[in-house]
Amino acid sequence: MTCDGCSISLAKAFEIFQNDSETKSFLIKHGIRESLVKCNKCGADAYLTADEKWWRCRKRQTKTVNKKVIKSQCDFKQSVRTNTWLQGTKLQLEKSFLFASLYLICNPPHEEFLMEELNMSSGTVCDWSQYVREVLENWCLNESTHSLGGPGKIVEIDEPKFGKRKYNRGRIIDGQWIFGGFERDSKLIFLEKVDDQSASTLLEIINRRIKPGTTIMSHCWKSYDCLAMEGYKHLIVNHSMNFVDADTGAYTQNIERMWRDARGTIPKFGRRDYHMSGYIADFLFRRAHPSHITRMHAFANAVTEFHKDNWHNVQTFEYFFTLKKIMH
Ligand SMILES: [Zn+2]
Ligand SMILES: [Zn+2]
Repeated sequence: MTCDGCSISLAKAFEIFQNDSETKSFLIKHGIRESLVKCNKCGADAYLTADEKWWRCRKRQTKTVNKKVIKSQCDFKQSVRTNTWLQGTKLQLEKSFLFASLYLICNPPHEEFLMEELNMSSGTVCDWSQYVREVLENWCLNESTHSLGGPGKIVEIDEPKFGKRKYNRGRIIDGQWIFGGFERDSKLIFLEKVDDQSASTLLEIINRRIKPGTTIMSHCWKSYDCLAMEGYKHLIVNHSMNFVDADTGAYTQNIERMWRDARGTIPKFGRRDYHMSGYIADFLFRRAHPSHITRMHAFANAVTEFHKDNWHNVQTFEYFFTLKKIMH
């Protein structure tokens, strides 16, 4: 039993995720929850306890060893959350998914709204927001392709800073540089966080993410001076003068529009460095699923992928994404 696609509006989310059996069938249908678990001792089908929190096996067995009859009984007990996205969490199953739906439907999700709507503390909302974003990060990794451009293709590049200066015991960063590229026509993008804007940092990414022969359009920035030598055609827009360069016709409005959208999703304050990738993933996920009613289905599939990919074994890594599919 699998789901080929379902629409979950806000009203539908409340209908499903405030009901035990509706939630259960949603989870099973999307492969999030096992419909059957085997006992790890005897291999028989485990049963669900009455409260549906545990898989259990209490099978009695008799074995004859050296003419002695040995009686034993299975004592298999495994949480229904084990090996799922919910492993190690305590929040009610239904509420976890109601949270995810509201988080994904709201654009951007406001902490106070989620706290009041779901009667959750600020800390719980922060934790769960991060759990949702971890799934989206994993989704991004799976949706990544290698590079953009090629001969005859135009890629706009830009590297704005997200966030504002904030002094706070050194823990909240005072902005994060993000480097991005936007391929015209296909609207494919890549985003990558960078620690500095040096020529070597940016060129390393350009070489990795943009194919030779591409026409690259950027604003005037000395780090890009050597692009022509790297096998690209480079057209510059001088922003202090014009939005469209009078001589070359170059413009970077597409990527600037993308940044404006991204700034709507990525908060300026209270963001910690290690959350940045999650916010980028969040932005890309919403961009790929512009209609809010399709997001919960996509998220549910991403949760299943998340289990398979064993996210929790992947501790930290630097990553980048170029989305394969952009719906708008
Ligand atoms: Zn579905
Ligand atoms: Zn057993």
